Amino acid sequence: MKTKQHKGILIVVSGFSGAGKGTLMKRLVSDYDNYALSVSMTTRQPRTGEVDGREYFFSTKEEFEKKIEEEGLVEYACYCGNYYGTPREYVEKKLEEGKDVILEIEIQGALKIKQKFPTALLLFVMPPSAAELKRRLVGRGTETEDVIEKRLKRATEEAEGIENYDYIVINDNLEECVREMHGLIMAAHETPARN
Ligand code: 5GP
Repeated sequence: MKTKQHKGILIVVSGFSGAGKGTLMKRLVSDYDNYALSVSMTTRQPRTGEVDGREYFFSTKEEFEKKIEEEGLVEYACYCGNYYGTPREYVEKKLEEGKDVILEIEIQGALKIKQKFPTALLLFVMPPSAAELKRRLVGRGTETEDVIEKRLKRATEEAEGIENYDYIVINDNLEECVREMHGLIMAAHETPARN
């Protein structure tokens, strides 16, 4: 069991665009009280329905680069032509409070986190099949065909780095997947010296 004195750990969740990470993260936070979800900063345009400060802190390239200079980001990366980064202040505060902080980030950022925080748990979420991945990406209806192609290509590249993750989680059934992820995180508290 996780003891109250324990400081939180970082939970990195990566996976193909369209693997259902966003839904999983929201469920982890609403179903259990030990999680805090980090909101990233990005230079990409908001999608329909996205709210500044909720899905992302949307910023200009200049604002983002200023944040890098000020060392205000725990990590950052460039993904399909846009910057994405994790604001430092929130992460440090929540870890100190004993929360497990979830970062939904891509692989370059995940590797940086593992270097800086060796106790971080790295999870990679996969859709049940390639066909399902494409169906979800197209079904979301928020991206153009060109962007979908770019993201599928990037998904293939990311798969090459999969051995750096502690666990691969298949998101077939949402309920089961949420429970499985929570179980893996609780177990990680018992073995903080993972490599
Ligand atoms: P999307 O544009 O679909 O919201 O995100 C594109 C990719 O950027 C996803 O793989 C997502 O996990 C990743 N991402 C989101 N926020 C961050 C961040 O703060 N840092 C890094 N390195 N990647 C991020």
